[in-house]
Parts: sequence; structure tokens; C-alpha cells
Amino acid sequence: MTRVLWCLEGASAATLAQPARLEQGLRLHVEHTQLITVLMQIDGQQQAYLSAAECEGCAYSRCVPGCYVELLRRLLGACFATGTLRAVAGGLATRPYRRAVLAWPTAKAAPLASVPLAPWPEARLIVHWRGKHRQISSAALLAVGADGPDPALALRAAGWQTWALPGALGPKLANSASPPALPFQRAATHAPALLWPQPAAAFHSGHNPDAVSAGCDHTTTLF
Ligand SMILES: [Zn+2]
Repeated sequence: MTRVLWCLEGASAATLAQPARLEQGLRLHVEHTQLITVLMQIDGQQQAYLSAAECEGCAYSRCVPGCYVELLRRLLGACFATGTLRAVAGGLATRPYRRAVLAWPTAKAAPLASVPLAPWPEARLIVHWRGKHRQISSAALLAVGADGPDPALALRAAGWQTWALPGALGPKLANSASPPALPFQRAATHAPALLWPQPAAAFHSGHNPDAVSAGCDHTTTLF
């Protein structure tokens, strides 16, 4: 099975009606297959994506029974007032990232959804979840542009161990059209979680005060 990219639409803290069910469903999902979640920020706009293994029928909206994408779609429909997945034909847009940091959870790691991306005009946060023998592990990559603070400091403040990727390696990895599988997974200390757009109130950048929901326009289809 190949992994495909999906735009996560309508899912946010404000539309989450069933947090416990979502956590349980994601845990089950990750125990059986891998899940890569992405939150991308361009100026003041954020958009969330996820990458999951597709079935042979995904492309035709005729999923085979047990398709992981269809199960995820049903989970989102049950847990959010409006959450759904929209297929992304192209990949994620190539952005001018200059710094990138790989990270692994320590025993006191907080979910990375709590790390605000607002300090960076350009940011891409990728969290890769993987399950084996009911043990769930994760790793993360945070890539940012030339402006803004050191991304490693933000991740370490959230209890994640970091390694700054040298030179162009990190930006190149982050700019993979399809979110990359991340190496050096460590046991996750908190439940698998999705990334979704952070509350606008947390934004400080003010680059685009009129920004509304970004839709799925952080992809190559429109760039
Ligand atoms: Zn499918």
C-alpha cells in the first residue's frame, strides 16, 4: 500500500466534539498502520494534512472494507462537528525552509500540537506515528524559514530531544512533496494526536491579519 496525502478540513479544537473517542480511534489506527500528520504555516495561515496508507479504491471513492483512510474519515466524522478528509492531487508546496530539526519524545514530552508555529512566517511541523506490538512510537520534524527563533528551543521546551539537521538536508527532507517517514522513533509518552490549525488568537506575526481559513492551498496544485 502506498501512502497518500489528505487535507484535513474542518477539524480544530473548536469543532472537536468527542476527544476521548478520537484518542481511542487514533491509537487503534496507529497500532495497525503508520500515520503522518502535518501542520503547515505560511505567513498567518495554517493548514493541516495527514498521510495514510490508501487502498486500491481510495482514488475512485470506492474504498475496500477495512481501508485505513476510510476508517479515519469515519472517525473524523464521528468526532468532529465538521471534520473530513479531502484528497490532495499534488504534493505539499516547496517552501523556503532554512533550518530543520528532528525530534524524539522524552519521558516528559508534551504533545507537539501545543507548540505554537506563530513565531515563524514559514513553518512545517511533521509528526510521524508508528505502532508495533501495541507500543506506539513517534518522531517529529520542524522546518522553518530564515526568520524567527531557533526551532530546537521550542521543541526542547515541549520536552522533546532534538537534533538539528546539517545544511540543506533538513529543508530538503521537509520539502518532500509527500511527508517523509521520520527515523529514530522513540516510545510515545502521550496518545497519538492530529495536528490542526492553532487558534488565531495565538498568532503574533500579523503578516496577514485578514487571513481566513487557508483551505488546502499550501499544495503544489495551486502554486
Ligand atoms: Zn480507501
